[in-house]
Amino acid sequence: MPRSFRHPVLLQRVDSLRGVASRRGELLANLGIKTVGDLLFHFPRSFDDLSNVTQIDAILAGEMQTIIGEVVELESKELNDGRRVMQVVIADGKGRVVAGTWFNVCPRQFRYGQRVAFSGKPKWFRNHWSIQHPRVEVLEPTEAGPNQNVIPIYPLTENLRAEDLRDAMRQALAMAVEHVVEVLPASVLEKRKYPGVAQALWQMHFPEVVAQALQAKRRFIYEEFLTLQVALAARRRDLRDRQPAPLLPVDAVIDAHIRKLFPFKLTGDQDKAIRVICKDLGSAKPMQRLLQADVGAGKTAVAVYAMLVAVANKHQVALMAPTEVLARQHWQTIDRMLEKSRVRRLLLTGGLPAREREAALVAIKDGAVDLVVGTQALVQDDVRFAKLGLVVIDEQHKFGVHQRARIRKLGGQAHYLVMTATPIPRTIALTVFGDLDVSVLRELPPGRQPVKTRWHSEAERERIEEDIRKRLREGRQAFVVCPLVEESETLDLKAAEGVFAQLRDGPFKEFRVGILHGQQSADDKDRSMADFRDGKVDLLVATLVIEVGIDIPNATVMLIEHAERFGLSQLHQLRGRVSRGLSPGECHLFTGSITDEAKERLKIFTRTGDGFKLAEEDARLRGLGEFFGARQHGLGDLEIGDLLHDRELLDLARTDAWELILADPGLKLPEHAALRAAVLERYGQTLDLSEIG
Ligand code: ADP
Ligand code: MG
Repeated sequence: MPRSFRHPVLLQRVDSLRGVASRRGELLANLGIKTVGDLLFHFPRSFDDLSNVTQIDAILAGEMQTIIGEVVELESKELNDGRRVMQVVIADGKGRVVAGTWFNVCPRQFRYGQRVAFSGKPKWFRNHWSIQHPRVEVLEPTEAGPNQNVIPIYPLTENLRAEDLRDAMRQALAMAVEHVVEVLPASVLEKRKYPGVAQALWQMHFPEVVAQALQAKRRFIYEEFLTLQVALAARRRDLRDRQPAPLLPVDAVIDAHIRKLFPFKLTGDQDKAIRVICKDLGSAKPMQRLLQADVGAGKTAVAVYAMLVAVANKHQVALMAPTEVLARQHWQTIDRMLEKSRVRRLLLTGGLPAREREAALVAIKDGAVDLVVGTQALVQDDVRFAKLGLVVIDEQHKFGVHQRARIRKLGGQAHYLVMTATPIPRTIALTVFGDLDVSVLRELPPGRQPVKTRWHSEAERERIEEDIRKRLREGRQAFVVCPLVEESETLDLKAAEGVFAQLRDGPFKEFRVGILHGQQSADDKDRSMADFRDGKVDLLVATLVIEVGIDIPNATVMLIEHAERFGLSQLHQLRGRVSRGLSPGECHLFTGSITDEAKERLKIFTRTGDGFKLAEEDARLRGLGEFFGARQHGLGDLEIGDLLHDRELLDLARTDAWELILADPGLKLPEHAALRAAVLERYGQTLDLSEIG
């Protein structure tokens, strides 16, 4: 939890608790629980409701139920496979029988005649009801049912008994809960009707009814979201209120001049995005805009338009791409467009010889260059711009928040446009990029046709190769994508080098076959790309280096090896490489051994071409953490909230965060002090919030 424990009682080690001998202390430490405070915030992952007591003759198969009876039979036997199975049979007044079965481990000693409550999901097995590994409680003769109606289920290590954890938890709550700082302001607790933190902790660990625990959990998820949203809102306000950015207005002359440079008419969505961007550029409030688009929707044109507006206003612009291959492609596009213009431009990448780099830096610093395209090489410490008006970052999701923070420091108060082709559901975009405005390009340029995507068995390979040869003879080009560069025995992946040699000397020997992978030198990469672009190579064997951005309209066929190794968004990006021209693309998938999850992924992929839908599915299948990757959004993982599942709470938190920040920008009021501390502690560094407000 984003909450620090300052009080000594909360900082006390868990093994100081009665009954938590040092061995168990170790087990707890394995769960990351070192202090009493940690223990209080070790939350159950679910709750079993034992209040549902069922008579044996009223059992409903498969539902969570509690059955109370007397032990009438005890049996322990060895199975053929060597496992021991323990059976305890109980009977209630109706005379029917239930068997609790355990394999290998049995939770306790049973006696004949003992009165017990078994909780679990009964199944009808041969001729009796059976519950595997039921939860057991031994009852006094007078007790009507289990003492604790709701049992929290904790994520446990194997050897830690649930009872021990519960026992430790009870002590921890009794001695320390009053010292836990309340992060939520009283106004928020009241508005959202949440229990205070002490009460919520009790309810989380020892709820009387399940609903109580769930309400407590909501409160903590909300608290986690609120902390994040306050951080984002504060930063947003901070950026907005900094010193003004340059005014970069557009008039009809500039507009006409720029449009003339494009070989096509802009789509409606491109025009819309450009209008919004121009409005941003014409204002002194620094633009912070995320341009989100499906693959191939034409983000580059929007970016180029914005850059030329800045140049027309006598300011410098920088375009940064995540890979050298992509930076060079942008450079070529832009360089070609500006052939007849006077815009002074250069390409700055890591591969530049020292002398040239030196000269480039001087030109940038002296304002002798207007437009710079580059890679991360652009954010080295020694790069200084004379008069930077706009920074464009392509494929923003490939950069982390930290890099973004560095990029922001590039040149004083520039406008920022960041672009991503990983479409993100709106609520999530607001969260992860909560400090940005969002524009979306959904419309594809006219004439685009869906890529025909097929998943083939190995038996079909020769037929597919023949199909591809046919396309190549028609003058088309093709990609073959492999997941790894080097042959790895353990993973048994087809390495690009091996595939390359095999295709060149085998099925495609009548064609020109090229190769492109991450381990090549910058020059080799360049040559491979250039040859392919110029049509000197018919078939390019490549790794993920072509994932983003590569734009070669004549390449309309793609074959992906080991498609099961790629995520949905990656596959969609890859497929985007062959949906750029006017003729329909084809994407062929081959797989190795494959999990059920991968099967589901590939089925979805073959059915859907909509990047926004695929992104949602991807997030659903992989979980958001992995979808973004901590590195990508840089905010670390949420501990209990789930951005997809708990969207409703996320929206509440966002609304409340803005209300708080607008009413008390610095969170300076005493009632906001604890929240302020929590926000700074969790996000102060990542979001560069030295102060809030
Ligand atoms: P992405 O959004 O994936 O970065 P690009 O900017 O690379 O897409 O554009 C994809 C292709 O579509 C390029 O070949 C580009 O020239 C072309 N394109 C972009 N906008 C238009 C348009 N309005 N009409 C026709 N073609 C376009
Ligand atoms: Mg692009």
